[in-house]
Amino acid sequence: MAKLSKENLLLLFTVLGVVIGIGLGYSLRDPSTVWSKRHLSYLRFPGDLFVQMLKMLILPMIMSSIITSLASLDSGTAGRLGIVSMTYYTLTTFSAVFLGIVLVTLIKPGKWTTTNVEDLVGNVKTTPCVATAVDTIIDLMKSCFPENLIEATFRSQKVCLKFFNGTQEIPPEVAMTMSPEQRSKFTEVPEKIVSDGMNILGLVVFSVALGIVIGIIGEDGKPMKNFFKSLEACSMKLIGWVIMYSPVGITFLIAAQIVGMKDPGQELHRLMGYVITVILGLLIHAFVIIPLLCVVLARRNPIKFVGGMAQALLTALATSSSSATLPLSIKCCEENNKVDPRVTRFVLPLGATINMDGTALYEAVAAIYISQCVGNDLSIGEVILVSLTATLASIGAAGIPQAGIVTMIMVLIAIGLPTNLFILIFPVDFMLDRLRTTVNVHGDSIATAVIERLCEDQLQKGGHHHDTNDQGY
Ligand code: ASP
Repeated sequence: MAKLSKENLLLLFTVLGVVIGIGLGYSLRDPSTVWSKRHLSYLRFPGDLFVQMLKMLILPMIMSSIITSLASLDSGTAGRLGIVSMTYYTLTTFSAVFLGIVLVTLIKPGKWTTTNVEDLVGNVKTTPCVATAVDTIIDLMKSCFPENLIEATFRSQKVCLKFFNGTQEIPPEVAMTMSPEQRSKFTEVPEKIVSDGMNILGLVVFSVALGIVIGIIGEDGKPMKNFFKSLEACSMKLIGWVIMYSPVGITFLIAAQIVGMKDPGQELHRLMGYVITVILGLLIHAFVIIPLLCVVLARRNPIKFVGGMAQALLTALATSSSSATLPLSIKCCEENNKVDPRVTRFVLPLGATINMDGTALYEAVAAIYISQCVGNDLSIGEVILVSLTATLASIGAAGIPQAGIVTMIMVLIAIGLPTNLFILIFPVDFMLDRLRTTVNVHGDSIATAVIERLCEDQLQKGGHHHDTNDQGY
């Protein structure tokens, strides 16, 4: 009882944190004066500490949890868990893409306002198409096998765009602030940049392999198994401490975002149809499709389940990062929703990197919206191409803020549109990013309940259920 009220109190503080963050943000916001980057970073500081604490725990947590989970399963159960997870991820991602395509085709937000694309983007015809879907797939597959494991813990390579005028190189967010004439002097250059995220996919693949091997070799693997079991218990205890700090972190992340927000004014009016379509799609997916799967496949009460995930969902909203939210997703799924840790610790790290329903839906809507804006009606073949590339783009997106807009470029390329058109939707992306990240985490968490139910028989046969109380929190 005491434990329950402690959790409820924390959740109450977190919700209060969101409310105070919004209030603080709006009271400090003054449209006539722009806060300097330095002052904004001071305001964000308590929030940055929170994100960094979460990120700090990702490496020990992913490795220890995947390895202990797989080492305690027989190979049949591990294999089934893998196959069921991948099938479920693919089906939900496709359904999100399908929903996005249906909505954007029916609502036609690109036709709502007459946008003079050339005014906004500059010269749209010259586009050196270098990064393609094939590049992204190759990039993704390469990142499954990091050549240097240590490096993988702090770096991952992503295909990205920069703007270049022969001497000077600028990132898209700076290009956005320029006048169309200034911007037209720059050419966009698709290239590989080092993103700030770690290569989680690579770490997941390595940990899966190591976990299976430890399980197979038996006696010789025991010391490793015990080591990771102990690391896992310590990481979970640390996560418990970091969570205590989450209301403070969330307050300042939200306040700084509101203070630093550029007044979207005209832009928001222009993008209203697009914003409404994406939000409507996310709402239908989160409140109808996913809960339906929760009832039908997992036979669980979706409202109760989402209630148990509230802390993680609010963190996703505040951080815009599924990866940073991962420690909380695991804790909420296990502690509040009592999902088997062997499932959560395998399904959630994988899901945070490759199962992004919200991102997939957004990728499809954004690409078709842009093509509507330039008066380009898509053929059935092109719509199918959008659905395939949007799915891939969501798999390829890292669980970090605004990774989705970078991989969306590959969808544009697939349907033959100039890559610099992504600038059309850039002004509202920070806001949609928060919402799609929350849907991504929601989809991942319900996936654990569904996969647990679908693998129920195997899990009962395939090893000991390792009790959450053993984990020291
Ligand atoms: N920010 C999203 C996430 O972490 C990815 C995206 O940009 O869509 O899940």
